[in-house]
Amino acid sequence: MQKKRRAVFLDRDGTLNVDTGYAHTPEQWHWLPGVPEALARFRAQGWLLLVVSNQSGIARGFFDEAALHSLQAWVNTQLAPLNAEVDAWYHCPHLPEISGPCACRKPRAGMLVRAAREWDVDLQASWMIGDRPRDIMAGHAAGCRNVLLQAADAPHNDCALPASTCILPGLPEACEYILGLERNAIENDSRSGGRACPASLGERTPAP
Ligand SMILES: [Mg+2]
Ligand SMILES: [Zn+2]
Repeated sequence: MQKKRRAVFLDRDGTLNVDTGYAHTPEQWHWLPGVPEALARFRAQGWLLLVVSNQSGIARGFFDEAALHSLQAWVNTQLAPLNAEVDAWYHCPHLPEISGPCACRKPRAGMLVRAAREWDVDLQASWMIGDRPRDIMAGHAAGCRNVLLQAADAPHNDCALPASTCILPGLPEACEYILGLERNAIENDSRSGGRACPASLGERTPAP
């Protein structure tokens, strides 16, 4: 039997691109620093790149599925020269107030569970990276390890999040950390890796 694959589940807005609100055209897409290069590093190490994104702009009628798909295709053409294309894009088009409850909108784990089934992903060996608590809740519910992208000193009220949630400022740092863990694990011949997260939620002071 072939071994299950590892994936990096990626939030989109605020993780890959600047979160300008409901981006749906190439003109509205602004890469965050170092993101394409970080995706290329993950890819070179054999990680699947799976985007899982809430896109309630569809339920709100701001844009349609066709616009979203053409933006995703454009983003992949940007990534192709680096051999860093996203393997698959998952999105939740819903908004409970408009389209009723669904299983896919983060903090629910529906998109990750579906992606894992479709790509034969080992969820326990995979990571969710996102800039919102709901990203981490979805990743945690799916059984992944999690990186919350935030300034280490940002105030938070994220007491519902697992204390093990790793906090890093951006995707390049998350990439460095995750790939470093792996190198460490190989060097130590140990599954625990032994490299502590630079900052985790458990160590932070809650916002007053
Ligand atoms: Mg986000
Ligand atoms: Zn949904």
